[in-house]
Amino acid sequence: MKGFSHLSVKEQKKLSFIIISSKTHKKIQFSIPQWLVIVSSILVVALIIGTANFSYKLIITNHELTHVNQQLYQLAEENNIQADEIIYLRTKSSTIEEKLAGLNELQNQVLNMVGLESKPEEAKLISTLLVSRSDQRSAINRDDDYDYEMEMELLNELIEKQKDGMEQLIVDVEKQLKYIDSQPNRMPAAGRITSPYGYRISPINRKREFHSGIDIANKTNTDIYAAGSGVVTFAGYNGAYGRMVIISHGYGYTSVYAHNNKLLVRVGDNVSKGDVIAKMGSTGRSTGPHLHFEIRVNGQAVDPKTILEN
Ligand SMILES: [Zn+2]
Repeated sequence: MKGFSHLSVKEQKKLSFIIISSKTHKKIQFSIPQWLVIVSSILVVALIIGTANFSYKLIITNHELTHVNQQLYQLAEENNIQADEIIYLRTKSSTIEEKLAGLNELQNQVLNMVGLESKPEEAKLISTLLVSRSDQRSAINRDDDYDYEMEMELLNELIEKQKDGMEQLIVDVEKQLKYIDSQPNRMPAAGRITSPYGYRISPINRKREFHSGIDIANKTNTDIYAAGSGVVTFAGYNGAYGRMVIISHGYGYTSVYAHNNKLLVRVGDNVSKGDVIAKMGSTGRSTGPHLHFEIRVNGQAVDPKTILEN
C-alpha cells in the first residue's frame, strides 16, 4: 500500500507532492505547476456540468418519449374503439336490412292472405338493393374505407321504399277487405235448397222456364241475411217477387231477396254482411215459405253457387 498526502506549496507557481511508502518509508517528491491544477479543476467542473446537462436532456427526452408513447397508446385505443363502432354499425345496418327483407316478405304474405297478388317488381327492387348492399359490404369487409354516409343513405332509401310499400299495402288491403266484405257470398238463409239456378220445370205451371236464382226453403219468419255489405236500393212489393229487397254491393254486384214475409230495411240503408234484412215468407208467386235469392253482376243474373261460400 502506498500513502498519499498533499504536502505544501513550495513555490508560488508550483504545488509539490511527497509520496511516502508505509513499508519502506521511502519518499517520492514531485511538483505540478499551479496552472495545470487550475486547468484540471476547470476541466473537471466543465465535465461535471456537461454530464449533468446531458443527463438532464436525457431525462427530458425520455419523459417526452414516454408522453409520445402514451399518446400513441391512446390513439391505438381510440382506433380500437372506432373499429368496434364500425363493426357495431355494420352489424346494425345488416340487421336493419334483414328486418326490411322480413317486412317485405310480410307484406307479400298479407297481400296473399287477402287474395291479392304479391308485387314481384317491388320485391325484386328491394331484394336487388339488399343483395347489392351485402356485396358491397363483403367487398369492403377488410377495408377501412368504410363509407358510413353511403351506407346510411342507402339504408334510408330502403326504409323509405319499404314505408311507401307499406302505405300502399294498407290502401290495397283496405280496398280488398271492402271488396271481400261487399261480395254477396254469405248464405242468405238457413234451409234446404229446393230449386237451383238454371232451366227447370216451373212448380206453378209445369212449363220449362229459366230460374234466375236459388230457392232456400224453411219455416216462415226464418231470418234472411244480407249476403254482402252494401246499400239497400229496393225494399218493397214487386209483383211475382212479393216483398223484395235488393242490395247494391258495388263492383257491379247486386243481390235480390224475394217472397219475404216482412222487410226489416229501407231504401238507402247501409247493411253489413250478415245483417238480418227480412223474414222468410211466401209472398208473390210462391208455393210455400222460401227465399228466392239472386245475384246479378252488371244486371245479369249469375249462378249464386259460384259466388256463395260453402
Ligand atoms: Zn226462385
